[in-house]
Amino acid sequence: MRSGPVPAGSPAEIAALVDEALATDDGPGALARLTQLLAYGAADPADPACAAHLHCPPLAVAAAADLAVSALNPSQDSWDQAPAATALESTLLAEIAGLVGYDPQRAAGVLTSGGTESNLMGLMLARDQKLDGIVELDGIPAGVRPCILASEAAHFSVQRAAALLGLGERAVIPVAVDRGLRMREDELERAMAEASWAGRTPIAVVATAGTTDTGAVDPLSAAADLAGRYGAWLHVDAAYGGGALLSDRLAPLLDGIARADSVSLDWHKLGWQPAAAGVFLVRRAETYVSLARRAEYLNPVDDEQAGYPSLLGRSLRTTRRADAFKLAVTLRTLGRDGLGRLVDSCHDLALAAADAVRADPALELYAEPVLTAVLFRYRPPGVTDEAALDEVNGRLRRLLLRTGRAVVGRTELPGDGPGRVRLKLTLLNPHTTVGEVGALVREVVGAGRKVAGERAG
Ligand SMILES: *Cc1c(COP(=O)(O)O)cnc(C)c1O
Repeated sequence: MRSGPVPAGSPAEIAALVDEALATDDGPGALARLTQLLAYGAADPADPACAAHLHCPPLAVAAAADLAVSALNPSQDSWDQAPAATALESTLLAEIAGLVGYDPQRAAGVLTSGGTESNLMGLMLARDQKLDGIVELDGIPAGVRPCILASEAAHFSVQRAAALLGLGERAVIPVAVDRGLRMREDELERAMAEASWAGRTPIAVVATAGTTDTGAVDPLSAAADLAGRYGAWLHVDAAYGGGALLSDRLAPLLDGIARADSVSLDWHKLGWQPAAAGVFLVRRAETYVSLARRAEYLNPVDDEQAGYPSLLGRSLRTTRRADAFKLAVTLRTLGRDGLGRLVDSCHDLALAAADAVRADPALELYAEPVLTAVLFRYRPPGVTDEAALDEVNGRLRRLLLRTGRAVVGRTELPGDGPGRVRLKLTLLNPHTTVGEVGALVREVVGAGRKVAGERAG
């Protein structure tokens, strides 16, 4: 039996259960037995106390659609492996391009494994567009020092993409953020000017629409203006905040997103899809050119001339699941409005969580929630030792995990020195009640008292 969203126990205890279960070969019994193990050992994103990450409870209809995809197994790399799913993906992407504010006739895109892959694709196309025809060259031309500007709070996949693209992690120039972790417009302007004085070529600006920790949305229009002024590509990482496009209340936060050259959206976050349901889009299909590939066994010229379409040149992958299907089913079942109501419910829950944190003298709220995440810490009145607070907050979170009572996030604010550890609730279950959020907050305080008591005693 479990007493919360995860099984109680240490990582070693859970691993021992798994090893024990895998040590038996029981033929057809394996499916039921191992599925029980998977369920017992899962972090249940539908549990109101499972609130660490952008890890959503999937909609039943989307999970069912995904199961149909698994069984039918279309592969999107050639029409003859996915006749209907090929057409469906293109139509779905045009629909999503419209949501972003792109001209669906001119935009293009693909389903991805998530924000990490989408960010890599955006930066790859930026590199190829801005470093003129690099695909045909031996590499980055001598003397050219490309750089990418992204805020300090941008997702780590931006640095990793720069490394994978042969630019090096240090090609990413971190731009200072304000207290809410939103990129500072003046700092972006300064960083771009400095980079170009130093003889570097700003190939891309990455603006985050919904930072992973606070949901902050960078100033998108200012980023578009500055990118335009320096001839840089604008990539908007809306892996988290893209969900705001579904909500009338929150969509204005993303004003300006339609000016981006490319965007990342993750429907396995604020979209309630089983992973993976990433979407990558470019505003102008012609900027996709460097990914185009001809593989005689997949998209031969004569097939193409005869009217057989190919999505091969849209993706970094070859074999590829029809992840568009569950999204198409979901949008037809709930509509944008139905999904928007789920987004609004989660936003309301985050506001309620912030109220509960503010009301408790042992807790310190970091900032008002923007989307569905709340940052705070356990800080009993009078305690000012920042290093001790970091330790207590880290430990209380592990205590909740070990007892299986709650999965609460833990992160660190940008900067140096102690006092940066914060706890995080990322609320993605629209069925959670305000009462349950209050109970979760009390659970955190209880664990904090216990850990602080152990330290003192
Ligand atoms: C989650 C997230 C990513 C990474 O996306 P994956 O789907 O996990 O690959 C990138 N950027 C932001 C802002 C995110 O929140």
